[in-house]
Amino acid sequence: MNAPIRSYCRFGLAWVVISAAFIGCTTTNQPEIKPAMGEPKFTGLVIEQGPGSLGAEPRKEPVTCLILHHTAGSLPSSLEILQGKDPKHKVGVHYVVTDEPKPRVIRMVPENMSAYHAGKSAWGKLINLNQNSIGIEIINYDGNVYPYSDAQADIIFALCEEIIRRHDIKPWNVLAHSDIAVGRKVDPGSKFPWAKLASLGIGAWPLSNEVADNLKKKRDLTPGRVRSLLTAYGYALETGEAGLKLGVEAFQRHFRSAKVDGLIDQETVAILEALLRRYQPKAYREAAFNP
Ligand SMILES: [Zn+2]
Repeated sequence: MNAPIRSYCRFGLAWVVISAAFIGCTTTNQPEIKPAMGEPKFTGLVIEQGPGSLGAEPRKEPVTCLILHHTAGSLPSSLEILQGKDPKHKVGVHYVVTDEPKPRVIRMVPENMSAYHAGKSAWGKLINLNQNSIGIEIINYDGNVYPYSDAQADIIFALCEEIIRRHDIKPWNVLAHSDIAVGRKVDPGSKFPWAKLASLGIGAWPLSNEVADNLKKKRDLTPGRVRSLLTAYGYALETGEAGLKLGVEAFQRHFRSAKVDGLIDQETVAILEALLRRYQPKAYREAAFNP
């Protein structure tokens, strides 16, 4: 056992059972989101208390967003870094999901504290989202290359559902780090199981029939219009062609993972418009028809 694990164990293994009862609870305040694939296999959530982190401060704003990350490092090194002991790299996160055959959830920062996981970031009207969010780091060296296991997806689902329910986080505010730090971050990557989670009621996803309907008619791919649509959905883009390309790439990484190239195409815009129509209809009307 190496040093980081030893220091981790010194904090003791205080097991906190959140509750198994939340599974199957309905999301009656979000009637548009219904589980489409039946009940998840996961039937309980146990959160293990891990080492604390110096990368945190008192929370001053309500939690409205849930941000997902990959660690790009092993469990021991990630637990070490996320303790935020390096003053030049003061980071922290609320939860770590391990990559073991039976993945665990480790708590590092309590939710009533703001953790330093988002960095320079923006989404909609929010900037620097640490204060507005809860962060989950998932052990994966690169979620654009290595898939997440079904066991990880199950426990991520259980953890997200519990957090979303308690804080009433809206589907469009369940986000990738790459969504809120466009051009700067690429995690949790294109292999992250967004579609599976959305089918179980976690996060935003377009209705497939709306995407198909949109594709029946050629979409307007004018760069200015696509920029307006992305901005209406929440993306904060740098100016110019390069800024737009990075925005399209971030969007594809989340919602069109089969092809992440930053190029505007019919399918990307069809998905974007279906999402806007579903979750931001007013902003969609304004952006789509008055770009
Ligand atoms: Zn990240």
